[in-house]
Amino acid sequence: MSLFRSRQSSTRFVRLNKKNCTACWSCVEVCHKKALGRIDIFGHRHAHIVHPELCTGCLKCVEACTSGALTAINPGVVVLLGLLVSLAFRVR
Ligand code: SF4
Ligand code: SF4
Repeated sequence: MSLFRSRQSSTRFVRLNKKNCTACWSCVEVCHKKALGRIDIFGHRHAHIVHPELCTGCLKCVEACTSGALTAINPGVVVLLGLLVSLAFRVR
């Protein structure tokens, strides 16, 4: 285990700007996939992306982040994919 396991600042769906992070941890709490984690060491505090591969693009972290540190990547594409998936399930 390492606090610095991932230096990635984005997943396929969301981007994290650590400079804007206020370390409120809301995103960590709402991420059901545990893709996000906390850095809290010697006054150095911010969210970080621990498991980018687990991100499903639900965007709950973006909704929870009031500081603008987390933003959606290509939100239009994510919405379109969500619509296509829901349509596919309706057809069955
Ligand atoms: S988009 Fe969803 S799964 Fe991905 S990091 Fe945010 S809350 Fe977690
Ligand atoms: S919700 Fe935003 S401000 Fe709060 S810890 Fe996550 S990235 Fe940082």
